[in-house]
Amino acid sequence: MGLLEGKTALIFGVANEHSIAWGIAQALAAEGAELGFSYGIPALEKRVRPLAEGVNARLIEECNVNDDDAVDRTFEKVKETYGSFDILVHSIAYADRADLDGRFVETSRSGFHTALETSAYSLVALAQRAEPLMREGGSILTMTYYGSVAVMPHYNVMGVAKAALEAGVRYLASDLGPQGIRVNAISAGPIKTLAASGIAGFRKMLNYHEKVAPMRRSITQDDVGKTAVWLCSDWAGAVTGEIVYVDGGWNIMGTIIPTC
Ligand code: NAD
Repeated sequence: MGLLEGKTALIFGVANEHSIAWGIAQALAAEGAELGFSYGIPALEKRVRPLAEGVNARLIEECNVNDDDAVDRTFEKVKETYGSFDILVHSIAYADRADLDGRFVETSRSGFHTALETSAYSLVALAQRAEPLMREGGSILTMTYYGSVAVMPHYNVMGVAKAALEAGVRYLASDLGPQGIRVNAISAGPIKTLAASGIAGFRKMLNYHEKVAPMRRSITQDDVGKTAVWLCSDWAGAVTGEIVYVDGGWNIMGTIIPTC
């Protein structure tokens, strides 16, 4: 019997088969979870629908997380389809491309707003609607990156958004803990995805990570998926408000001595 047998999981943030959310979805399905999916814009339906149907999803809904009406409609559908559910995966981030290059000091007011609203507030918007439907407690999981803690070249406003997201994880964990709902984040090392390709110099960062992270390799969807299974299962039943690093040890390094 799988670790997540009898659990229903909603996955927000699959864009294609390279998405971290898809890696998580596959890992949760392999442990017996029933899955429902939401994608951000109509153009993604042709990619997401076949993936979702391949794991027998009963719910496949478009939802722009910046639109309260769309979020409400999605959770109405969730209620109609499942009644209640157990796991919410939030794997969503966005910043204007212009703000993922050059100097952070040049970030515009609207660019700051876009990044923070889409990448940090959206977790609050989803958690608000999830709470009444997670009747038997559950697990909320989001995705973050080390650029929240230390300066990473070109990550800029997204680093600030991830810092807000991580603080949000702790406040949500405190609010929802009494209802048995746990809230955690996985801080993943670099993985080549659509969102990552918008960050200037990402390929170089990925190569550097493989050379200097203690485990001397890059991170895979599977690495993240397996940690997600743990965090969403009863094995992590007393873990909440945590940022769990899945980065081959990158975050423990103080400095790196160049060898070449
Ligand atoms: P991805 O492009 O596959 O996923 C990003 C998702 O966000 C897409 O599905 C996109 O449609 C969705 N999205 C953006 N704006 C939205 C909106 N307004 N409404 C609904 N959905 C919206 O890329 P990914 O790398 O899988 O990113 C998933 C998460 O993982 C992000 O939070 C990202 O910051 C985080 N992360 C990625 C890496 C990496 O190296 N790829 C590392 C650490 C953390």
